[in-house]
Amino acid sequence: MQAIADNIRELGYYPFHLPLGLKLNERSSTKSPCIRCDTFDGYPCLVGAKADAEVNAIRPTREAYSNFTLLTNAKVLRLHTSESGREITGVETDIAGERHWFTSDIVVVACGSINSAVLLLRSANDKHLNGLANSSDQVGRNFMKHVETAIVSLHLDINHANFQKTIAVNDFYWGEPDFPYPMGMVQNTGNVLADMMPAEAPPLMAPLVKLLPHQERHLLAERSVGWWLQTEDLPDPNNRIRVVDDKIHVDYTANNNEAAYRLVHRWTSVLKSISRAAQHVLPFSLYPRSHLPEQAVAHQCGTCRFGTDSKTSVLDLNCRTHDVENLYVVDGSFFPSNAGVNPTLTIMANTLRVGDYLAQKLK
Ligand code: SF4
Repeated sequence: MQAIADNIRELGYYPFHLPLGLKLNERSSTKSPCIRCDTFDGYPCLVGAKADAEVNAIRPTREAYSNFTLLTNAKVLRLHTSESGREITGVETDIAGERHWFTSDIVVVACGSINSAVLLLRSANDKHLNGLANSSDQVGRNFMKHVETAIVSLHLDINHANFQKTIAVNDFYWGEPDFPYPMGMVQNTGNVLADMMPAEAPPLMAPLVKLLPHQERHLLAERSVGWWLQTEDLPDPNNRIRVVDDKIHVDYTANNNEAAYRLVHRWTSVLKSISRAAQHVLPFSLYPRSHLPEQAVAHQCGTCRFGTDSKTSVLDLNCRTHDVENLYVVDGSFFPSNAGVNPTLTIMANTLRVGDYLAQKLK
């Protein structure tokens, strides 16, 4: 991977170490549990080394505070309000098939942007006919998830790197001479593995890849380097989450496609230049690509955007709903537009900010 990064740099770009949510613990005396395995990205971590909400927040909180209770297999069905509709007075929850009700001075919804919108829409009542906290008609709208493309560069030489997801390139964020708009970010995917190939191959190649025996797929996988290209999709009120007859509908039409296509073509030409420099070009090098479908919602954001105007936004700048005084939504829902990078670090930063605000408010 270092050789690839060096080659990219020689072309005049600025590859950098991709920030990753793993427990590397560079500044800690504790040994990192991360073994830099080849199933990073897209697989659960079996040694608890991903720096996710469970590892970084829930487990330590459970250990540190005796007044913290974690309920699993519990699904919040609806939020109920007072007669005025201004406060949440009950959280109706299904726990192992039984209804339970919870009350609290403050209720924080953090289900991810799709399911947070779903919970608000399902909680419509006499005072909130169009969905809870939805006087703006913005709950569920402006759903975004990045326009995403996976590209595999396939060579004759074996790629021995066990932990590939390390390089990022942001040079194309500044567009190109005849296109002065952000085109997006390039980063590695995790390792391409034989078992993943049938599901992730481009549609035209998928039937062929499925027919290959595992060993042949493995031969291809170990000669591959995966790349992930993402472009901001723009907020569109028609890209939205709806609940119809208690079923979740996701209406999504990708936009900003020209920027995404340009990024794909530009990066493919970079890969070809690298390949030529490394004399990989003969007898072949291939760059199959696959546009991620609607189901790929790992970068979900939007649906309850924040703002100062209650007519055009769902949340105020502290992520409290404009319409309900003790209700907050703290996840990717608040984004008014997408980010040029993966949204998680911004979600975490905003969560810490709102957490500080609530701690101060509650003294
Ligand atoms: S899956 Fe592997 S690389 Fe990822 S955090 Fe866990 S041990 Fe580290």
